[in-house]
Amino acid sequence: MPDRRFPIRFKLTIGALVPLSVAILVCWLTGLYLINSRIVAQAQEKVRTDLNSARELYLNEIEHVHDVVKFTGRSPHAAAALKTGDASALRTLLTHLLQSEQLDFLDIVDARGQVVFRAGNPGQAGPYRWSRRFVPRALKGWEVSGTMVIPFQDIQQENPLLARRVDIQVLATPQSRARPEKAERSGMFLVAAAPVRDGSGTVVGALYGGTMLNNDNRLVDKIKRILYENVQFEGRDAGTSTIFLRDLRIATNVTSPGGKRAIGTLMSEQVHDRVLLARQKWIGSAFVVDDWYVSAYEPIIDLDGEPVGALYVGMLKKPYDNIKFRLNLIYGGVLFFGALIGIALSWQISSRLARPVRELENLARRVAGGEREVRIEVNSRDEIGDLAGEFNEMSRALTQREEEVRELNRDLEQKVRERTAQLEENNLLLVRTREELIRVEKLVAVGELAAGVAHEINNPMAIIRGNAELLQMAVPPEDPSSEEVEIILRQVCRVERIVANLLKFARQEHRRMGKADLGAILDEILGQIGHQVPLTGITISRDYAPGLAEIAGDADQLRQVFTNLILNAVQAMPDGGALRVSTRKVRGSGFEVPGSNSKLKTQNSKLDGDFCEISVADTGVGIAPEDTGQIFNPFFTTKTGGTGLGLSVSYGIVKEHGGRISVQSTPGEGTVFRVILPLGGAPAGAAVAP
Ligand code: ADP
Repeated sequence: MPDRRFPIRFKLTIGALVPLSVAILVCWLTGLYLINSRIVAQAQEKVRTDLNSARELYLNEIEHVHDVVKFTGRSPHAAAALKTGDASALRTLLTHLLQSEQLDFLDIVDARGQVVFRAGNPGQAGPYRWSRRFVPRALKGWEVSGTMVIPFQDIQQENPLLARRVDIQVLATPQSRARPEKAERSGMFLVAAAPVRDGSGTVVGALYGGTMLNNDNRLVDKIKRILYENVQFEGRDAGTSTIFLRDLRIATNVTSPGGKRAIGTLMSEQVHDRVLLARQKWIGSAFVVDDWYVSAYEPIIDLDGEPVGALYVGMLKKPYDNIKFRLNLIYGGVLFFGALIGIALSWQISSRLARPVRELENLARRVAGGEREVRIEVNSRDEIGDLAGEFNEMSRALTQREEEVRELNRDLEQKVRERTAQLEENNLLLVRTREELIRVEKLVAVGELAAGVAHEINNPMAIIRGNAELLQMAVPPEDPSSEEVEIILRQVCRVERIVANLLKFARQEHRRMGKADLGAILDEILGQIGHQVPLTGITISRDYAPGLAEIAGDADQLRQVFTNLILNAVQAMPDGGALRVSTRKVRGSGFEVPGSNSKLKTQNSKLDGDFCEISVADTGVGIAPEDTGQIFNPFFTTKTGGTGLGLSVSYGIVKEHGGRISVQSTPGEGTVFRVILPLGGAPAGAAVAP
C-alpha cells in the first residue's frame, strides 16, 4: 500500500475536528435523549393528571347516583310509602326520579331484602340477589356506592329497555388481546344504595339505583370535553377517553378507521395484564385501535374489591412526535451550523498553525538546495516559535560551519599543492642526483682510463717528438722530406693536446686558485678565436656588466671553459650568425639558475650569495631536445672531428669552482650556455672529484 501523505494542516484540522465531532455527537445524543425523554415525561405527566381528573369525573358520576339514592332514602315519603306499602306513592316517587335523574334502574327493598318496587320494570318484584356488600349493607344503615357488573338476566329484570344496550360484539383490532367470548353479555353500572329510615331513624328498607355504562358515552365525552376541548391534530381530536368492562371498550370516543366509536374493541394484552391482573396503573405509549397514544389506564374496582374494568385517557402520540421531530430538527440544525462554524474555525486555526511549519519546510528545502543565511520570521511564543528560532540558529551555525570547512579545504589544498611541489622537487632532485651519480661514476671510470692511457702515451710521444725534432734539425728545409717531418711534428702536437685534454679531464691537473678577470679572459678568447676557426659571416657582440670585479678562480681552467663554449658556438653557425657574450651580476639567496632547463630546476640549482653569470649565445643550429641531457656526458659529440670532451671538462671545472652550467636551446634558432660562478670563489667542499 503506497504511503499516503497528509499535509499537517489537514492533520491539525482532523485533530481539532475529532474531539469537536465527538463533543457534538455527545451533545446531539444527550440533547436528543433529554428532549425526547422530557417530552415523553411531560406527555406522560399530562395523561397521569388527566387520568386523575377523569377519575374525579367518574367518581362524580357515582356521587350523583349516590346523592339521588341517599336523599331519596332520607325522604319521609319514601319511608312512609314503604311502611304502608303504598305502591302508587312509590311508583310516583321512583319513576319520576328514574327519569329526571337519568338512572337506568331504581329499586326499593323492605327491611327483609324483598324488592318492593322496581322503577325500571314495575311489574317485577322478588328477593334481592346481588352482592352482599351492596344492599345488605344499606339495610344495615350504610350508604354504599361504586361500580358493579351485573349479568344480562338481572339487567333485563331491572329494565328491559337496557337489554339492547348491553350486547356488545367483540371486534378484533391490531395489537389487541385475544378474547374467547365473542360478545359481552353483562353490563357495568355506577350504583349506589342507601337506607330508608322512618321518622324515628329506624331502617325500614333500602333504596338502590344506578346507571349503565355500556354504550353510554356521555361520561367519556364529558371527560373528553373537559380535558381535551378543542385539542386537535390534523383535523382530528387528539384527546380520548374510554371505559372498559374488563378488557372491552363499552364506552369510548376513540374512533376506529371508519370514524365510528371503537366500542367492542379490546385493550392490549400488556395493559390487560398490568391493569386488570396486577391492578396497577399503566402509563406509556399504547397502540389504541389504529394509532399510537400516550395513554394512562387505571383499574376500576367494584364493590367487592375486584377489578372489573379500566378507566382510560390518552392523547394522540403524533403531536408529541411532531414536537419532538421539530425540536430535534432545530437542535440538529443548530448543532450542524455550530459544527460548520467549528470546522471553518478549526480549518482557519490549523492553517494559521501550519503556515510557519510549511514555511519552515520550504526554508529547509532551500537550505538543502544550497541556499544559506535564510531566516524565518515567527513571533509566536510557543513551540513553533522555538522551532523557528532553532531553525534560524541552525541555519546560521550551518553557514558558519560551511565557511570553516571551506577555509579548512583551502588550507588543505594549499598544503597539498605545497607538498606536491615539494615532492616534485624531491623527485627531480632524486633524478638529477641519480644522473649526477651516473655521470660521476662514468667520469671516474673514464678519468682512470684516460690517466692510464695518457701516462703510457706520454713517454713514447716524448721519444717520437725528440727524434722528430732531431730529424727536423738534420733535414735541411729545402729537402723534400722536411714537409713529412713537419707533418709528424704537427700530429705529435695534436696527440699531445689530446693527451693533455685527457689528463685535464681526469683531473690530473689541480686548480691553481688566483684572481681571474672574466672580461679580460673573454676578450682574449674572442681576440684569438679567429686563429682556430674561420669567423666568416659571424658578428660578435659583447655585453659585460659594469664594475664586475675579478673573481677568485683558476684563470687557465676558466679560459678553457669559455674557449670551449665560444668555439662550439662558432662551430654551430657554419653559415654565419650572431655570437653574443655577456656577463651580469646576480645576487640574493636561493635564486634559481636563470634559463636552466627543467631538469636542472632543482634545489641544487638554488644558490646563495653574490654570483656572476656569463652567457654565450649563438644563433646556430641548436641542440635537439633528446640530446640536451647528454651533451655534458664525456665523448658525446655530433661532430665528425669532435672529441666530446669539451663540455664534460667544462662542466667539471665550473662545478669545482662552486658554480653551475646550464643550457637553453631551440633547434634551428640558437643556443644559450649560461655559467654561474661565485664572485668570492668556490665554497669549501664545492669541488667535485672526477
Ligand atoms: P665536441 O665539440 O668535440 O663535439 P663538446 O663536448 O664540446 O665536444 O660538445 C659536445 C656536443 O655538444 C657537440 O658535438 C655538439 O653537438 C653540442 N654542442 C655544444 N655546443 C653547441 C652549440 N653552441 N650549438 C650546437 N651544438 C652544440
